[in-house]
Amino acid sequence: MTIAGLNHIDGRWVPAASGAVFERRNPADESDLVGVFPDSDAVDVRNAVDALDKAAPEWAGTAPERRAAILEAAADHLTAQASSLVDELIREEGKTRTEATMEVSRTPMNLRFYAGEATRATGATFPAPAPTTVYTVREPIGIVGAITPWNFPLNIPSRKLGPALAAGNTVLFKPSEITPLMGQRLVEALLAGGLPAGAIALVQGGGAAGAAVVEDQRVAAVTFTGSTAVGRSIHRCVGPERRVQLEMGGKNPVVVLADADLDAAAALIVKGAFGLSGQACTGTSRVVAVDEIHDALLGKVVARTEALTVGIGAGAAMGPLASSSQLAKFLEYVKIGVDEGADLICGGTRCEEESLRNGFFVRPTVFANTSPGMRLLSDEVFGPVLAFQRAASFDEALTLANDVAFGLSASVVTKNLSAAHRFVAGSRTGLVKVNQPTTGMAMNAPFGGYKQSSTQTFKEQAGPTLMQFYQSEKTVYLSPDA
Ligand code: NAD
Repeated sequence: MTIAGLNHIDGRWVPAASGAVFERRNPADESDLVGVFPDSDAVDVRNAVDALDKAAPEWAGTAPERRAAILEAAADHLTAQASSLVDELIREEGKTRTEATMEVSRTPMNLRFYAGEATRATGATFPAPAPTTVYTVREPIGIVGAITPWNFPLNIPSRKLGPALAAGNTVLFKPSEITPLMGQRLVEALLAGGLPAGAIALVQGGGAAGAAVVEDQRVAAVTFTGSTAVGRSIHRCVGPERRVQLEMGGKNPVVVLADADLDAAAALIVKGAFGLSGQACTGTSRVVAVDEIHDALLGKVVARTEALTVGIGAGAAMGPLASSSQLAKFLEYVKIGVDEGADLICGGTRCEEESLRNGFFVRPTVFANTSPGMRLLSDEVFGPVLAFQRAASFDEALTLANDVAFGLSASVVTKNLSAAHRFVAGSRTGLVKVNQPTTGMAMNAPFGGYKQSSTQTFKEQAGPTLMQFYQSEKTVYLSPDA
């Protein structure tokens, strides 16, 4: 069935004002048209912001307990729809069934987590000369623009819409043009949960729609997850008087030391590199191995990589890339790696089997014999491409691990507690893992990167700054008489 998607503006489901549409096709089979969605522009965004402006006082004035109950009910709705959502997520994005099931189960948990935050926003009182009272209150910030990528099309938006709505803001949501259906399903769940229809707007479309969201000065805060290039353009546009939170790209290493269990190291490397077809921001794209174990580890990683089943359906370990541009980027970086002189050890090609030929399926890819300065080691490929780097010592391994512009996630594999501590202290990343894949995050712990991976202004997901992004803080001086 082909979905006829719509925008949600001023409490109604509507097409783009221009009537323009775009198609989304199944990345596992391009002949399967998933849906047709509004290709929105600045007019749709302006209409959405006009309506959100009108609706803002009612939602801001809604009791926190009621906001919490609505988010809980939306979570219930998503849970009730889980089976069809998993099927749609597989069809729209190309996740494997295991990956899609994990995402669909995580999203309601996120909404429940943020529901709790609705009733926890506290201010503080400060010592002051009697009879004056000095205290702070937290208020909704206004209209929040949420712009999201396609690789976790339910989860990432739920981590933005959940806290934004819990705090009493109205939300303008612009999902990725690669996963518009999941964006629509999330908004439907919030409405089914009882969210006042005017409190949320959904505007479908690509970069032009996203840029229009950022350019509208009435959008008080922009929360964005996506590429560093787009994040930088958003940062320039927002200016000093509005708030922005950017979570961006990564080039995440696993460092393997001489004492490591190499089978365990290979397992977590392959999981981190090729889960989600390498399309996770925290995905492993580099292995920094010390000399003593480099060759043995490479052999084990390659054996596991070649054993992965690429495809769809039960048993598939790696699905298709999400789009033709993702495929083009993968092929481009394989060529760059070869041209730069790295050794292509396995993969590097499209899958030519009859059953996979209509989709963007590729072989998981491992490069070795790389050297510093190669683009393979510095650019985010965002595909199933893993590059090995060789280090002579712990210190060199740490230096190589840090020698990129990104700073999202890094892992060390070792049994040596002292080395693990030194790695944690020295890693210039927002997330550091010990004996774990670079991927995989606790929903109740702060999330965000260093360097070009994040604005680092507010952590996402959890922690003390989570709700602060979505709230203004006002300091009140109160005397009983003038
Ligand atoms: P992208 O930057 O191309 O697009 C992200 C969103 O921004 C989409 O909704 C897109 O339509 C919109 N957009 C595009 N141009 C815009 C513009 N000029 N102004 C405003 N919005 C615009 O990223 P993508 O391909 O969807 O996702 C992959 C990227 O996201 C990778 O770099 C990945 O590392 C990153 N990512 C980061 C995290 C994280 O938490 N750090 C999580 C997931 C993905």
